Amino acid sequence: MQIVFLGTSGSWPTPKRNVSAVAVKRGPEIVLFDCGEGTQRQFMLSPLSFMQVSRVFLSHFHGDHFLGLPGMVQSMSMNGREVPLEVYGPRGVEQLVGELLSIGYFTPGFVVKAKEIPPGGQVDCGEYVVKAFEAVHTVPGSSYVLEEKPRPGRFSVERADALGIPSGPLFSKLQEGESVRIGDRTVRPEEVLGPPRRGRKIVYTGDTMPHDALIEAARHADVLIHDATSDAALEEKANRYGHSSSRQAAEIAKKADVGLLVLTHLSPRYEDPKSILEDAKTVFERVRVAEDFLEIQVPYAD
Ligand SMILES: [Zn+2]
Ligand SMILES: [Zn+2]
Repeated sequence: MQIVFLGTSGSWPTPKRNVSAVAVKRGPEIVLFDCGEGTQRQFMLSPLSFMQVSRVFLSHFHGDHFLGLPGMVQSMSMNGREVPLEVYGPRGVEQLVGELLSIGYFTPGFVVKAKEIPPGGQVDCGEYVVKAFEAVHTVPGSSYVLEEKPRPGRFSVERADALGIPSGPLFSKLQEGESVRIGDRTVRPEEVLGPPRRGRKIVYTGDTMPHDALIEAARHADVLIHDATSDAALEEKANRYGHSSSRQAAEIAKKADVGLLVLTHLSPRYEDPKSILEDAKTVFERVRVAEDFLEIQVPYAD
């Protein structure tokens, strides 16, 4: 799994940073968190293609998080997309997407399905789920957890040999969780597989103040992508507008014991993000400040 930051600026873009969008590539599929204005062009400047986006999760309806959607949908359509696109978001997402797609003389040539995920709700995407929980911002908003379902345990060739299973198709069947027949005996997958292994977990906060539910939701995440609109000096102001400072994001990361904290949604005032990084580092060491096109690989823990 790979995370590519397509936009890392809060409120409006700067010459170096576009507005919010984070792509998560998993196999042939891209899950997009937020879609700020110009996201489709950011895709073109990245190794990814917007044609691979299967699902978009909008955190809330401030323009810097969704204004890229109508343009991207239009380009997808003109490039011959036929497969449906799913767009999820907090309360009001159906209406918002309906309005965005009825501007001007344009009708998409594929289905765009918009659906609300209430706080505490989730979308089952097969091998992974995306859960929504409430953000604390100036308007209704969601933070999201992308979590893979557990994978089967490690296959023990020694145990399979001891049970007299010939290598080949029977190995694969057992690995996929099916029982097999050896002579007059049935071998169950549990006999040759170790305990199930946990999947990877990525958390995207969207715009939010720090709050306790965030700690639980982000517990042991591989990567926590957190609002860091300001450094510690401007913390009070950031909080007043429903945002977090990098120091506060680091407190959440520390309490949640995440693998890596990535700070994003920087206020355009920070041409140099040095103070943002340093303030976070005083609290939590495993931290990076995102920049546009930053790529982060998320390997399996085992
Ligand atoms: Zn924002
Ligand atoms: Zn906002």
